[in-house]
Amino acid sequence: MRARSNPREVLYSGGTRAKVRGMIRITTFAGRNVAVFGLARSGIVAAQALRDGGATVACWDDGEGGRAAAMKSGLPLVDLSQADWSGFAALVLAPGVPLTHPQPHWTVARARTAGVEVIGDIELFFRERAKACPQCPVIAITGTNGKSTTTALIAHILKSAGKDVQMGGNIGVGVLSLEPPAPDRYFVIEMSSFQIDLTPSLHPTVGVLTNITPDHLDRHGTMENYAAVKEKLVADADSSVLGIDDAWSSKSSQFLTDRYKFHFRISTKSRADIYLRDGKLFGSDGTSSAELADLNGIGSLRGAHNGENAAAAFAAMTLLHIPVEAVVAGFKSFPGLAHRLEELGHVGRTVIVNDSKGTNADSTEKALLSFAAGSIYWIVGGVPKEGGIEPLAPYFNRVAKAYLIGQCAPEFAETLAGKVPFEMCGTMEVALQQAVRDTAASSATEPVVLLSPACASYDQYNSFEHRGDHFRALTEALPGFTKKAHA
Ligand code: ADP
Repeated sequence: MRARSNPREVLYSGGTRAKVRGMIRITTFAGRNVAVFGLARSGIVAAQALRDGGATVACWDDGEGGRAAAMKSGLPLVDLSQADWSGFAALVLAPGVPLTHPQPHWTVARARTAGVEVIGDIELFFRERAKACPQCPVIAITGTNGKSTTTALIAHILKSAGKDVQMGGNIGVGVLSLEPPAPDRYFVIEMSSFQIDLTPSLHPTVGVLTNITPDHLDRHGTMENYAAVKEKLVADADSSVLGIDDAWSSKSSQFLTDRYKFHFRISTKSRADIYLRDGKLFGSDGTSSAELADLNGIGSLRGAHNGENAAAAFAAMTLLHIPVEAVVAGFKSFPGLAHRLEELGHVGRTVIVNDSKGTNADSTEKALLSFAAGSIYWIVGGVPKEGGIEPLAPYFNRVAKAYLIGQCAPEFAETLAGKVPFEMCGTMEVALQQAVRDTAASSATEPVVLLSPACASYDQYNSFEHRGDHFRALTEALPGFTKKAHA
């Protein structure tokens, strides 16, 4: 088994790696000096893009690996701790480097003292777009959960509708690795809160905010700060789409309403402009509702959480005047993302699902709610998060049997005792074999073997991708396995 080096690298189901193609030249800093700190992939590409556009770059990283990568790419290394900062026009910072909390990184402190602006690679993209092709459509997506799925779904629908589409950002392909902006080229960009923080000129054609729940508070200080960063993406968009099912995003929707900013409100709980009921999307004008799309039976969009992602995509497509038929066709042919309720295929009636991205109870809750009660043969375990699987107790009745793997097995066995039948399996191989064996006796129409570990993977794997890839390989080697065919 081989681990992937970049944990954010996103694969479509079936393992097709997102391709890196062109490169955007950044001309807005031509003739000026720019410091670039943080030399992972997007930092290297940003430095190359600036250099190719006529800037002089000074690259640095605290780690040997980053510096070696820059050298290999022929980029000049400058020890920024010793540099004269008065000559820099900007500091381009990698999003993983602290801007404010727990404390500003030393490069940020140096930049501030010298009056040098601190920006990220997506800011470079937006400035270049403003200069070279302001009419180029950009859809930016953020939210605590569902960013990657919504981003991939929007890109997929646009592509299926025959559009020229570039997808990147937090989803794994740095935006500056994409083709340059053009009038009919749609950019679909996933943005983390860290990236938004580094993008003061963020001005998408359509902004999408799926939801806001507590996350990354170590980096944003307070929930108010975190929500304010997320809100910025929709507040500065031409028009936008907001989930309104949590208090924070609902507050952002009110903020936009108070400022007469047009936006679609989406919900999986109550009637909104676009909302989910019984697995179907409906549109409402406030007085009457009409069915827009039926998600029932679409394996890649199982569960209410994916209903929210689909509602967000539908609203974004409406704002871009994509015909309803094309959106519905795109839903049906969406292959889904690897490791997120990824349907691998069948052994007889049994469907096998890889939800290795289910690394905490919150995420696994979504998975347990996505299949019929009593049909789930649940492979769970690894390095537990605080609280373990206790928060999942209300859903234990959905589980036919649990198969425990990894370090937390004794702890999880205690939680499950007397509530759910379980077996101590130790390894993924054993768990999969036993689970598939047991489904033969299930009375469910379509029993499901579900890997949704509710745990980190580091006791047995390098990453959740590594764990999911192993599960996929083991599944594909099962006797009688039929792989899911993609439309
Ligand atoms: P992100 O990119 O924001 O991490 P993903 O689309 O990769 O989100 O989904 C990661 C996990 O988050 C999924 O496996 C699922 O458990 C959960 N999830 C996905 N969409 C939503 C949503 N709209 N609301 C809540 N949870 C979601």
